[in-house]
Amino acid sequence: MNASPPTPGEGATIRERTGWVLDRIAEAERRAGRPPGAVKLVAVSKTQSLPRILEAHAAGLSVFGENYVQEAAEKVPALPGAEWHLIGKLQGNKVRRAVSLFAWIQTADSATRLAEISRCGVEAGKVVPALIEVNVAAEGSKAGASPEDLPSILASSAPLPGVRVEGLMAIPPWTESPEATRPHFIRLRELRDLLSRESGTALRELSMGMSHDFEVAIGEGATMVRVGTAIFGSRRGRG
Ligand SMILES: *Cc1c(COP(=O)(O)O)cnc(C)c1O
Repeated sequence: MNASPPTPGEGATIRERTGWVLDRIAEAERRAGRPPGAVKLVAVSKTQSLPRILEAHAAGLSVFGENYVQEAAEKVPALPGAEWHLIGKLQGNKVRRAVSLFAWIQTADSATRLAEISRCGVEAGKVVPALIEVNVAAEGSKAGASPEDLPSILASSAPLPGVRVEGLMAIPPWTESPEATRPHFIRLRELRDLLSRESGTALRELSMGMSHDFEVAIGEGATMVRVGTAIFGSRRGRG
């Protein structure tokens, strides 16, 4: 087994960091016996300036994740060819704006929110692909649906014409060791498998894994990893 290449230093360029992340994804796919390209890299660009995002795009990245609808509204029009994912909390009064900006909404966490997304999707003439965010570790303060509510939330979305639930997303509690997060990744995959089986719906996507644990997540079946710091360097300001 190859050792991981050393982490790019603080002075590394976005292009160097991107190459390093893509290599590690490819290696993790290979180790897990998954086909090349099985995992979509969502470059988390919250707080990053437009020039830095354009640099990442020039380095080959075409899928970006943003946490705030307002912030995305300033960036998306500058890079319309990219695929934008909402990965932050979706407030009820921002749904229409979010549906117009984002290709994917990863943070639907209730039947109500899915119904609103559907309504705005119909208005916009599209079917919005969405993930249900799950509070996988049952943390009191965390966003996300409780695992026991997933069957009813999914069932409520089945007849909705403007949204299509494609899978699950989670942000497990942060730990020093990426290995400590593995049980949460396994749990999310098991919830997805059970929900798929019991509902008879193909739920293909599992959005899990961030800069410090995306390789573990890929080993447990992630189809999307959301990576910010490892691509852009440490963030300044909020986020
Ligand atoms: C900020 C953020 C990320 C990226 O975190 P990094 O540790 O910088 O990779 C991923 N997912 C969500 C939901 C985030 O808010």
